Amino acid sequence: MTENDAIDPKLAFTVATVWREERISCPHPHLLQSWLQGGLQGGARDFLAFHLQDSKCPYCNAVLDDLRAQEDLAKAPKLEDLRDRLLRSTVAALRKTRA
Ligand SMILES: [Zn+2]
Repeated sequence: MTENDAIDPKLAFTVATVWREERISCPHPHLLQSWLQGGLQGGARDFLAFHLQDSKCPYCNAVLDDLRAQEDLAKAPKLEDLRDRLLRSTVAALRKTRA
């Protein structure tokens, strides 16, 4: 009765290899982003953790690295934005005065 319970290690290896090579079960980048931000729960979170950490999908880990870099960028330039907006409104005010 134990024959049906155990997954053939060879088969498991094949499945993992196919996953990595064909990216059959790669989650959408939006899902990766939710996972990064801690917005996933239950099965979806488990699946992402398995996909990224256990099967170490190089594609999704690369996407994740990109998303992390983008988040860092998004956090950093808040002051720049403010300065830009100030500059733009100053320019607009100057134009109005000249016109
Ligand atoms: Zn993947």
